Amino acid sequence: MALRFYNTLTQQVQEFAPSDGKTVRMYTCGPTVYNFVHIGNLRTFTFQDLLRRWLRTSGFELNHVMNITDVEDKIIRSATAAGQTIQQYTKPYEEAFLEDCKTLRFEKPERIVRATEHIPEMAELIQKLTEKGLTYTSEGSVYYRISGFKDYGKLSHNDFAGMRAGTRVDVDEYDKDDARDFVLWKMKKDGEPSWQTSVGDGRPGWHIECSAMAMKYLGETLDIHAGGVDLVFPHHENEIAQSEAATGKPFASFWLHSEHLIVEGQKMSKSLGNFYTLRDLIAKGYPPEIIRYLLTQVPYRNKLNFTFDGLKAAAAAIDRLRNYKLRLETDKYPAGVNAEIEDRIAKAGADFRGAMDDDLNTAGALAAVFELIRDTNTAMDGGEFKEGNRASALAFLKLFDSIFDVLEVTQAEGAVGDAEIDAMVAARSAAKKAKDFVKSDAIRDELLAKGIILEDTKEGVRWKRK
Ligand code: AMP
Ligand code: ZN
Repeated sequence: MALRFYNTLTQQVQEFAPSDGKTVRMYTCGPTVYNFVHIGNLRTFTFQDLLRRWLRTSGFELNHVMNITDVEDKIIRSATAAGQTIQQYTKPYEEAFLEDCKTLRFEKPERIVRATEHIPEMAELIQKLTEKGLTYTSEGSVYYRISGFKDYGKLSHNDFAGMRAGTRVDVDEYDKDDARDFVLWKMKKDGEPSWQTSVGDGRPGWHIECSAMAMKYLGETLDIHAGGVDLVFPHHENEIAQSEAATGKPFASFWLHSEHLIVEGQKMSKSLGNFYTLRDLIAKGYPPEIIRYLLTQVPYRNKLNFTFDGLKAAAAAIDRLRNYKLRLETDKYPAGVNAEIEDRIAKAGADFRGAMDDDLNTAGALAAVFELIRDTNTAMDGGEFKEGNRASALAFLKLFDSIFDVLEVTQAEGAVGDAEIDAMVAARSAAKKAKDFVKSDAIRDELLAKGIILEDTKEGVRWKRK
């Protein structure tokens, strides 16, 4: 079965291919950099990383643009309170976000773009809407007249028949069901950053940022637009209204939205104060790959309940995966190939691909991995797993890790690398062979102090990190 995604726009699971059959033009809404992102935000970005990786594994190339919202109500409030310019205020948070992305092993989008560097493009788009009679000005600010766009509500599937025509909203975020004319351009206010443009002296609203940047880099119709589910309304609904009214073309073919990470039944959010940052969890001793695993294991359209037990279970799952890999790499097996086991591995591959193709069903993909681990471990114990099965079992694990990316151990700063450990293990074996047990024990203790455990097995010495 072909690759399919649930499309918020059509409310259906649909087969996916980019319009040119080759390169996926994808836009994802990035963070508003007024604070550190929390692991709820990072769940959404983890979903986008998985999406990228699976699209590439499916044979497509990517042109992925992610924005950084670096001008917006909350940013201006916070920068003013800190006595800084918005650039001074946002820079450390943007850097921290990019660092978090690296820590969680996200692939880099082809382009990361800042709102403040695209103000003229936003003004131009607003002007186009004005020429089409879709805007009006009130007290110097420019608003979008939603009653002028007949498809308003088509993404969030809200019937706005009873909407209050002519009432308007100045803030960037507001409640569901509260459809009002939204602000495109806010008139300059004292003490706020502003730009002199063709639509006046002021600053852009949040929604226009994404429409202008997405169309600049990706063209008028994107293949995929993605974000967290809370962006469906008003943000993405408004992006559609702005872009489609300006171009007369569909803005995006597929709209993908990931569900929230929740804590005790509530959305993890800054305003509720129920959040952890990535840095909080790492400081508590949870390595990034465990957090990454936790964020990937529940399919993106299901809510993910965050608990510390969940983190512990993720750690145990990674241990199992790593032990299996170690066994595959270092154990000795009888010569030959067991054809049944080859079939079993091929089936796991097909199940894994089938699950990922099915709207990124990560739970199904992981089930395929762990069922194979269980079956091959039994075969290994019974002497049925043969040398000739090793390569395909390892290749399957490689496919798994090219998407989930959790097998490699994150090196703490100053930690020892694999090559250094291999050299120490070899030195210890040499000392043992020369019956210099004082030296071999000293090396073993030194390794232990670095968190490396040695196991003397029939096949030789194995090591693993604690
Ligand atoms: P923001 O910085 O608030 O614009 O949010 C960045 C991204 O994180 C958006 O795509 C939001 O939809 C998403 N997001 C916010 N809170 C959560 C949460 N608790 N779980 C998952 N995604 C979230
Ligand atoms: Zn956006």
